[in-house]
Amino acid sequence: MDVRRCDIAILGGGLAGGLIALALARHRPDLTLLLVEQDDRLGGNHVWSFFSTDTDKPASDLLAPIVTATWSDYEVRFPDQTRTLDTSYCTMTSSRLDEALRAALPVDAILAGQSVTTCSEEAATLGDGTLIKAGGVIDARGIRDFGHFTGGWQKFVGQKLKLTAPHGLIRPIVMDATVEQIDGYRFMYALPFAPDIVFLEDTYYSDSPVLDQPLLRSRIRDYAAAKGWQVECVLSEEHGVLPVVAGGNFDEFWKAGGHAAARAGSRAGLFHALTSYSVPDAVRFALSLAQEAALDGVSLKAFSMGWAKRHWQAQTYYRTLSALLFAAAAPEKRYHMLQRFYRLDPRLIERFYSGRSTPFDKFRILAGIPPVPISSALGVLTRLGKQPAPLQFTGKPELS
Ligand SMILES: Cc1cc2nc3c(=O)[nH]c(=O)nc-3n(C[C@H](O)[C@H](O)[C@H](O)COP(=O)(O)OP(=O)(O)OC[C@H]3O[C@@H](n4cnc5c(N)ncnc54)[C@H](O)[C@@H]3O)c2cc1C
Repeated sequence: MDVRRCDIAILGGGLAGGLIALALARHRPDLTLLLVEQDDRLGGNHVWSFFSTDTDKPASDLLAPIVTATWSDYEVRFPDQTRTLDTSYCTMTSSRLDEALRAALPVDAILAGQSVTTCSEEAATLGDGTLIKAGGVIDARGIRDFGHFTGGWQKFVGQKLKLTAPHGLIRPIVMDATVEQIDGYRFMYALPFAPDIVFLEDTYYSDSPVLDQPLLRSRIRDYAAAKGWQVECVLSEEHGVLPVVAGGNFDEFWKAGGHAAARAGSRAGLFHALTSYSVPDAVRFALSLAQEAALDGVSLKAFSMGWAKRHWQAQTYYRTLSALLFAAAAPEKRYHMLQRFYRLDPRLIERFYSGRSTPFDKFRILAGIPPVPISSALGVLTRLGKQPAPLQFTGKPELS
């Protein structure tokens, strides 16, 4: 049996695992690392975005090699308002994460194309029988079990399109909700990567996890055609079905994901309950782990669980908003909540996305949320405190 030894083994070379590897390489160059990824390429197939205000200086520095585009502002469009917000918006790609990791780590620190079969605090086994013995193991293999959460889904298909002529966009449209409202809250997301290249993502806050990819592709085509854009070719495509969490039981979630090792990323529940975005949490966690945590297996496990539990508690308010969006608003009316939210102070909106809303922000967001009837809002809020929570996920992601 082949045995590999290291100080830290990171299982899963996606966003969270990759950022931990970069943070450790930068802040603890004395350590030997092993980053294990089942795919040949690290990072998967994503365009990851975040607001510059989600990150402080050390976090921005860590993300800098992965960022492929930055815009100084962005736009939102709703039936009753269009608004430009002066917050800068940044985008990263999986291929850039792959490149950054290969540049930062020694060649033999990356085990790509290798699947982890079991793990514990200080060991992991791979599909080919290799045994990894580590000072500490971090499991960052993505979210495994949604069963202990309640809520709805954010699902989407995104395509990077090369057009036959310039599109004319000068900034991202983070939400264009002027599109037909189908299957819940629907919006188109547009990133102008070059004068003739645009990334379009058709997105739904839906009760159902079923993703009809051919249909969404045709809606992307329709949106482009309605703008007068002719598509020369599709350069890349991605899709996602992400949980929008309205309630749940953290302890059961943690147990179901395996008690064996420290956890990170979505596997540890480290994402925003309403947006499902995880970049801000992934980078904060990676830096904190590299700079503050004791790095033996037992301490790492305690560190990650404590962090995840605090995160779960801090997300209570955002879960309430998810519950209001899904349970109290009729699907075709959900966009009103976002339309109203986007009338608020831009600094409040920044704090919302970074998961750092103040008590006054929380009051402002909830005060007079239309079009939720007060009786259904109160019903949702009353039921939230009880277990089991009122909304059950209706299934697992299903792709066609
Ligand atoms: C298409 C898409 C776009 C998104 N866009 C954004 C965005 O713009 N902004 C944002 O903040 N969030 C975004 N998200 C949400 C979230 O940030 C991502 O899902 C993010 O990648 C989660 O990070 P993670 O490290 O937890 O999981 P992942 O990035 O999925 O990483 C898990 C890794 O573990 C590997 N793995 C799994 N099992 C094994 C195994 N047995 N052995 C070895 N390796 C294994 C996987 O192959 C994968 O590479 C997006 C999600 C998707 C799906």
